[in-house]
Formats: sequence, C-alpha cells, structure tokens
Amino acid sequence: MPDDFDVLIVGGGPAGLAAAESAAKQGVHVLILERQNEIGYPIHTSGGSWISDMKALSVPEHLYHPITTVVFLSPRREVSLHYNPAVACVVDVRGLYQHLAQRAIAAGATLRMRHTVEQALMEDGRIVGVTAKNHVSERVKLRSAVTIDAGGFSRHIGVRAGMGAAFHRYGYGAEYDLYAPNYPQDELYLIMGSSFAPRGYAWVFPRGNGRVRLGVGVIHPDCDEDARAYLDRIMHDIPQLTEKFKGASPIEYHTGLFPSEAPLERFSRDGLLLVGDAGGHGSTLVGEGIRFAIYSGQMGGQVAAEAVRAGDTSAAFLARFDKRWHARFGRDMDIAYMINKRISTYSDLQWDSALDLMKRLTPDQMAQALRGDFSASLVMGILARNPALIVSGGKRFLDLMLEHINKSTLASAEG
Ligand SMILES: Cc1cc2nc3c(=O)[nH]c(=O)nc-3n(C[C@H](O)[C@H](O)[C@H](O)COP(=O)(O)OP(=O)(O)OC[C@H]3O[C@@H](n4cnc5c(N)ncnc54)[C@H](O)[C@@H]3O)c2cc1C
Repeated sequence: MPDDFDVLIVGGGPAGLAAAESAAKQGVHVLILERQNEIGYPIHTSGGSWISDMKALSVPEHLYHPITTVVFLSPRREVSLHYNPAVACVVDVRGLYQHLAQRAIAAGATLRMRHTVEQALMEDGRIVGVTAKNHVSERVKLRSAVTIDAGGFSRHIGVRAGMGAAFHRYGYGAEYDLYAPNYPQDELYLIMGSSFAPRGYAWVFPRGNGRVRLGVGVIHPDCDEDARAYLDRIMHDIPQLTEKFKGASPIEYHTGLFPSEAPLERFSRDGLLLVGDAGGHGSTLVGEGIRFAIYSGQMGGQVAAEAVRAGDTSAAFLARFDKRWHARFGRDMDIAYMINKRISTYSDLQWDSALDLMKRLTPDQMAQALRGDFSASLVMGILARNPALIVSGGKRFLDLMLEHINKSTLASAEG
C-alpha cells in the first residue's frame, strides 16, 4: 500500500463510505481506514429512515423494509398514523453499509479493514495525514492532501486537530434485535414518558422476516438513567405490545452514542474536513443520522476532490463544504436542536398534550415534522389545524420556528 493519498478517510461508516465514493468518482486517489474487522459490524444504530431518501441515494429496495403504520404512545394517549404507500422504512444496516463500501470500491477507493487511526500528522498548522495501527499491529504514517474525519461520535482526529471538543450532550441508546414471530412487520412504535424512556424515547422498528429492533435512548447529561434497564420493561409492561412480543427473544444486543448538540460552525480547516456524526451532522430531533451522514459524506468527498484537483487544500477552499452543508441542512438542524432541547424536558402530562396535538395533524404533516423538513408552510399548516395554539404557549414556539425559517431564507438569498 503506498503511503501517499489524495484523500484519506478515517472510518468506514455511512459518512466515510459515501465520501470515498464521491471523491473517487472525481478521479482522485482515496483510502478509507476502518478499525473494525467488518463493515457494518458491530451495529450501533436502529436503521429507521425514509424511502424517498433511499431512492434518492440509489439504495436497492431489498436493503430497506417499508413501514405503513406509525404509532405514538405517551402515558395516557395513543396516535396511529397510516401511510399507503409507505414513507418510512427500516434499513438492513449491515447490508446498506456493505453496499456503500462496494460502491466506494467500484469507484476506485481503497478500503483497509482493522486499521485504527491514532494521531493527526501536522505540519505548519495543517493536517497532512494520520498515524495508524494496522492489522498486524504495526504503526504506519499515511500522508494525504485532505484528511476526512468520518469516525463518528469519537470525532477522533477532529478533537486532536482542535475542531471542537468531544461531545458533551449525547443520546445513549440500548437495543435488542429480536426474533419476534408474532410482531406485525409493518407497525413501528415510538414511545414517550418517564416509565419507559425518561428524557428520550423508546422505539420498536420491525425490519422484515420476523426481526424487530426494540430500543431506548436517553439524553445525557440531561439525565443519568441507564437506557439498558428499560428494555425488558418495554417488551413486557406495555399493554399494546405484550401480545405482539409473545414468543420473542433477542438475537443481538446493540448500544451506541449519538451527538445531541448543535452542529459546529466550521467543519473544515487546512487539510481536514469533518463529516457525518463527527461534524454533528445528524438530526437531534429524534436522533436520526444515517441519511444525513451519507449526504454529508457525499458533499465532503466532493469538496475534498475539488480541492485536490485545484491544488488548493487550504481552509479557505475547504470551507466550500461548510457553506454547502449549512445552505442545505443548517436551518432544519438548528430547529431540530431547538425542539430536542425543549421536548427532552417534557413531563408525562406534556407528552399527553403533545399527542393530543398530533391527533389534529395529517399523516403527511406528521411525516414532514418527523423528517425534520421544517418550512413556513408546515408551521402555517399546523397553526391552521390547531387555532387553539394561537392563544397557548405553543404559538410562541412556532413563532420562534418561523423566525428561524425566515432568517435563514433571507441569509441564503443574500449568500
Ligand atoms: C442507539 C442509536 C440508534 C440510532 N438509530 C438511528 C436510526 O434509527 N436512524 C438513523 O438514521 N440514525 C440512527 N442513529 C444515528 C446513526 O447511527 C448515526 O448518525 C450514523 O451511524 C452516523 O454515521 P457516521 O458514518 O458518521 O458514523 P458511524 O456510523 O459511527 O461510523 C464511524 C466509523 O468509523 C470507525 N472509526 C471510528 N474511529 C476510528 C479510528 N480511530 N480509526 C479507524 N476507524 C474508526 C468506526 O468503527 C465506524 O465504522 C442511531 C444512533 C444510535 C447511537
């Protein structure tokens, strides 16, 4: 393996693999280093996503499972939404990530497994590559024109290069992947309230062939509960679910961490980009990051390749990535974070009221809100269906959202 590359990517998750494909397609020399033995293993995610995005990202249909019913549960309320055709899906995580790896390799990228990146190489204040421990435990130095940190939550190189501290606020999730032969394979549950998911939520995501992911995520340090302690309670103590989980048993056990902070102002510096979770590019609304990691990786890989081809890998050139990401996702992510901070303090009573509000929205409005596609028309539509909000506290919050939307629409028109 040569030790000089145009673009070196730390991490073979969805962000890193998408970055590799996108950069390699531009004809530059790309290396991905992944510390694990396999792509897509171990699993740290639940795989909830959206069919329109899977189609936009050219993901083959056999890699995602459609969902036609979404049920919200709060302590004393239940809201069921039905979709035909389905809009949400649960992805085959390992299958999807390996598919992305194959696409990167087909585009010309080199992937090295069981290579753990340790340090950033710095020269005159710029990042010029990394040191890594390879599969036979040798320490190697690898130089590159652009390094992309796609290492996920650890933001390993980003932190060492002074691009933000380690994440302080984060979602901590624990999950069973079960064989549940009696669980209806088209019904997804989102469960709120202090008995099952304090300062967070629980989920039940069927993924086809009798397999179901059941998990709990809580926000730290907002609370110090252990998500793992709630898993059995969800299976056995929620009346709507007990029959459905009859005869079920876990086959896999997953845990993971998800950044729950506002995105960084800058994701680039001389010779370095941060993509995916490393840049805080997922939506904190419900802790959704897979499709956002892929989009962010694609954008980062594209800009890295443009920089290499232009012979200019300075912070000023690489800032194109910051600009493009903020223009496409900045506003929605800011609003998602604002909502997440608010709902993570909800009492059981507030969750019941929130579900009363949801009952008055159309399934399309709910899907748009869950996706985090915040637009003035969505806010106005919610107000139109809920005139009572105009005299309650909810109006102030929606006004704040509108203010955000208008400000960023103005900023992008000026930019
Ligand atoms: C419990 C839980 C449930 C979730 N559920 C959903 C969901 O339902 N839907 C959704 O869209 N999102 C979900 N997410 C979020 C989603 O998993 C992440 O946003 C997404 O995985 C981010 O992709 P990434 O490529 O940025 O990082 P990662 O997927 O974390 O990939 C990073 C890769 O880098 C490698 N790596 C790290 N450090 C090094 C190093 N030093 N050297 C070499 N390799 C390294 C890792 O091994 C890993 O393969 C969930 C997250 C958690 C924690």
